[in-house]
Amino acid sequence: MKSRIAAIAAAAVSMSLATSAVAQQYPTKSITMLVPFAAGGPTDTVARVVAQQMAKPLGQTVIVENKPSAGGILAPEQVKNSKPDGYTILIHHIGMSTVPALYRQLRFDPLKDFEYIGLINEVPMTIIANEKVPAKNLQEFLAYIKSNKDKVSYANAGIGAASHLCGMLFMSAIQTDLLTVPYKGTGPAMNDLLGGQVTFMCDQTTNTTSQIKSHKVKVYGVTSAQRVSSLPDVPTLQEQGLKGADVAIWHGLYAPKGTPKAALDKLVAALQETVKDESVKKRFADLGATTYPPEKATPAALQAHLKEEIEKWTPLIKKAGVYAD
Ligand code: ASP
Repeated sequence: MKSRIAAIAAAAVSMSLATSAVAQQYPTKSITMLVPFAAGGPTDTVARVVAQQMAKPLGQTVIVENKPSAGGILAPEQVKNSKPDGYTILIHHIGMSTVPALYRQLRFDPLKDFEYIGLINEVPMTIIANEKVPAKNLQEFLAYIKSNKDKVSYANAGIGAASHLCGMLFMSAIQTDLLTVPYKGTGPAMNDLLGGQVTFMCDQTTNTTSQIKSHKVKVYGVTSAQRVSSLPDVPTLQEQGLKGADVAIWHGLYAPKGTPKAALDKLVAALQETVKDESVKKRFADLGATTYPPEKATPAALQAHLKEEIEKWTPLIKKAGVYAD
């Protein structure tokens, strides 16, 4: 009996040694980062910068895989259901905090189904319109909306997207409901905006800066409290008298619940290296985004921020009475 117990104990010790050896070696192959929106859009842009930089300390490629859906609700579900081995991770934005109130049939719980890696950056949004819109500033644009209510359309990336949230705040601030055209990301929405098929949208500066700078779109304001240093001539919505449409889009990195701590620790360390990197900070700053300091690129900071944001947005969304299903 004694020798059986000893054998079992020895087997357990060697299994845990083997597990920790595997954990120490992690990662031994490429890691996949799922993006909930279409390629070429703002979340995709952030993902590609982060993936490329994280690959360096990890010593493995981080492959960006787009899993687009309106509202970005399929990628988190797929990550929740993936093997929790550190080889599948998720990048997502503020939508993780708005979807619990927006979807009654959501098949993942942002507060229960994930391990947290950390916060990445914060990005303001801009109200932009296709260049055929004659309005030269926000006041003229609001007058244009009023007199063309039946023609004006608002593009977004579906209920739960940042562009949905911003549009909801904007329409409530101007007390006007407009026709909304949903896409699987603001990358494709931008193409239709440039083509003149839709009138306007509110999108992250990571996607709009180059179009604004090359005058391919009209811009009527930024959603931040202060002007964005990469777009110094664009006034804030607030300074033009429009209150209630301020929003900053934050991004975080997640892994499936049960991902081993040793793998998570390496992912956290790689994210911290990434947010400290001067070239990453500059790339984001050029796109109007502010990179979080390494102290925020931690599981505790992301979890706390997510919780706070759910508490902030849930009553506002419930009050607005918006549901996706
Ligand atoms: N950020 C999304 C994208 O990458 C769109 C959105 O949230 O509005 O397309």
